[in-house]
Amino acid sequence: MRLALQHPEFGYYRHGDPLGRAGDFVTAPEISQMFGELIGLWCAEMWRLMGCPSDVTLLEMGPGRGTLMQDAMRATAKIPGFHEAVTLHLLESSATLRARQEERLAPHHPVYIESLAALPPKPLIAVSNEFFDALPVRQFEKSFQGWCERCVGFAESGLVFTLTPPDEALKLLIPQTMHDAPPNAVYEISPAAVNAMRDVAQHVARFGGASLALDYGFVQPDGKPTLQAVRGHAYADVLKDPGEADLTALVDFGMLGRAAAAQGVTVYGPVGQGDFLRAMGIELRAEVLKRRATPEQVAAIDHALHRLTDAAEMGTLFKALAFSAKPVADMPGF
Ligand code: SAH
Repeated sequence: MRLALQHPEFGYYRHGDPLGRAGDFVTAPEISQMFGELIGLWCAEMWRLMGCPSDVTLLEMGPGRGTLMQDAMRATAKIPGFHEAVTLHLLESSATLRARQEERLAPHHPVYIESLAALPPKPLIAVSNEFFDALPVRQFEKSFQGWCERCVGFAESGLVFTLTPPDEALKLLIPQTMHDAPPNAVYEISPAAVNAMRDVAQHVARFGGASLALDYGFVQPDGKPTLQAVRGHAYADVLKDPGEADLTALVDFGMLGRAAAAQGVTVYGPVGQGDFLRAMGIELRAEVLKRRATPEQVAAIDHALHRLTDAAEMGTLFKALAFSAKPVADMPGF
């Protein structure tokens, strides 16, 4: 999965622009400006709750086309002192997307970091949308003989899934709640996601700040594999044409929340994206936008609002998880 997504030459996130209506999938910030705007307000409110410090890192992980941050910066432009206080940092592995982000975010002079270890020793406000789901997972499968790891091998037909021999030690990686799962149950874990969450939480615990991650995922693993491939807006075979399809796995929010909490930060959520956006005021924002809109635009705003918040669309499967260095009495959005 790591090679298919990140191989320097052939990796999906290394060549081309996978995002947007013409690409493989549409993400929340590409559906409506309201999404990035409200995340911008969340960041500004965190900054205010931190006591308006004068030198803060604002980080986005996996900024895609830069749409979320562009909307976030526009929405916060009039908040006195906020833009002066933040230095925009971006973590992005794709050179193509970097070029796109640099163009769109040029007025905000983004600084690129190669890893979270390169964050400056300052308070941090970190945000991401659909970043954690793009990080590789390991899959473990319960066979009749015990837990095995799923691997990828070569056969004449192409790439195939294989299983390692059963290994009692693997059981130590599997949560207790899954030990009695029926044969063929699959447990996924993303070490890269857990480590990224830990790194951000460790930084926030040490230097102050807060973090918000939106993604699609679950709170409790249920024994089903969630690794999937999307190509040209349709589901594709995970093993076919590596590097040509977007591979993602649902985010284990329970696991990520525990990884953050272990660093001493206070964790909020996860809550459904619909609840988060409504608590942040998306319905009011839609009303305000509609006041100056053409009838076609009004319909588009209503449609976007529905897609982002409705339980049958992105409102429930997508979730928001936040944490802050210090407990917040009324965490916005949660
Ligand atoms: N946040 C954007 C893009 C989501 S797609 C949006 O909502 O539209 C995932 C993003 O994470 C892309 O920008 C991708 O290039 C980036 N990404 C994926 N794996 C990464 C990694 N290991 N390190 C840094 N960036 C990564």
